Amino acid sequence: MSGLRVGHEALLERGLRLPGLSRRATALSQLPPLGLLTLAGLVPDDWDVGLVLDDGVVEEATAVDQILSAGEHGASENGQPDLVAFSALTPSADRACRLSERLRKRGITTIIGGLHATAAPDHCQPHFDVVVRGDGEPSFERLLIDFRGDRMQPEYQSRGHYSLSDSPMPRWDLLGDHAPPRYTVQSMRGCPWSCSFCAASRLLGPARVKPDVLFERELAAITSRQSRPWIELADDNTFASDRDHSWMLDALQRHGARWFTESDWRIALRPKLLRQIAESGCRQILVGLESNVFRYPGMGAKTADWDRMMEAVLAIQDAGIVVNGCFIVGAEGETPASIERLGDFLDEAPLGEVQLTLQTPFPGIGLYQSLLKAGRLLPGDFARYTLFDVVYQPDQMTAVQLQDSFDELVGRVYRPEAQSRRDQIQKSIRSKRPRRKVSP
Ligand code: SF4
Repeated sequence: MSGLRVGHEALLERGLRLPGLSRRATALSQLPPLGLLTLAGLVPDDWDVGLVLDDGVVEEATAVDQILSAGEHGASENGQPDLVAFSALTPSADRACRLSERLRKRGITTIIGGLHATAAPDHCQPHFDVVVRGDGEPSFERLLIDFRGDRMQPEYQSRGHYSLSDSPMPRWDLLGDHAPPRYTVQSMRGCPWSCSFCAASRLLGPARVKPDVLFERELAAITSRQSRPWIELADDNTFASDRDHSWMLDALQRHGARWFTESDWRIALRPKLLRQIAESGCRQILVGLESNVFRYPGMGAKTADWDRMMEAVLAIQDAGIVVNGCFIVGAEGETPASIERLGDFLDEAPLGEVQLTLQTPFPGIGLYQSLLKAGRLLPGDFARYTLFDVVYQPDQMTAVQLQDSFDELVGRVYRPEAQSRRDQIQKSIRSKRPRRKVSP
């Protein structure tokens, strides 16, 4: 279940005409589903596997037909798959539940895993035969054995913390003959910090790193399909640890990759690393600058004053890498005036790209628990947890004021003149990029 979901109609209508926002929607929709492709790498050779990408746009009956006819060799003897495994984030979870119910009525066994299933198993359990919590790989292997032995359990949870040194090779072949515009590779999972708004950092366990040889093996598999690929590292905070990243960066350079990742601003404090990152083909890094009104608990050494973080942004961009500054709107203390101030700042900011989202208390994170306890979660289903819809009562204004101020900010920040100013900044950053040697 993929794609950028914008539930709020006014923003949907406006957003899809805004170049910056539609660019982001396109980039997200182009990403292959790395979790499912990785799990497919664990399926025994004598199983027939198919992949369906659901962007939430087609009729549910059509999506079900697509699932029924998926498979390397078409539908099975009885015209339908035996098992269907879903991976869905919170805003697409309700649709996944409905699709699952349709499949179960046909006698098909359904499974769901991923961040939402891990954080909100009670939401998923009534609609799926099996819920997988935590790292998917170890549970999926057990689950397939149990399915063959007709002893499937309603819930699987990984024991201990899965080591990425056991990672299977993702089944890129399931994407068919057409290369996607971007490939995803994971070099690490989790993050040493625990920002209270973050749904990614701790749900699956502590931060772990994939061994360099496996990382390079995946890169080699990708470059055998496409030379000079665009790689999006599916990491939470790539350079948060102080491990030596030289091999990984050399590998990206050797394979001619152009790549994107997420990292905190402190890479600017490591000039040698920054140079290596730029030389290895990094084009853009998303840096969480978060909020101009609130410092979230759990941000650790990532917390810094605004000026220090902006100095870091300039250093990263001076190295030839575009910084996509990521901001959360709607934290404690936010008011219509503070949102307007953020707009004033972004009109002048030196950032090459900007990402704006509304604070969203996803299930399973500290923020969700505290808003739930305070009775501040608004009624409604998880389809509204899109990052663009207000789903809680703010502390300094009404929910409607927050939504209106956010929509206005989005319109302002992604208006064509503001986007073309950032495009000019990107152009000047590109001129600073180091030349790199690509191996023949
Ligand atoms: S630094 Fe980023 S990935 Fe890590 S916990 Fe904070 S928001 Fe999440």
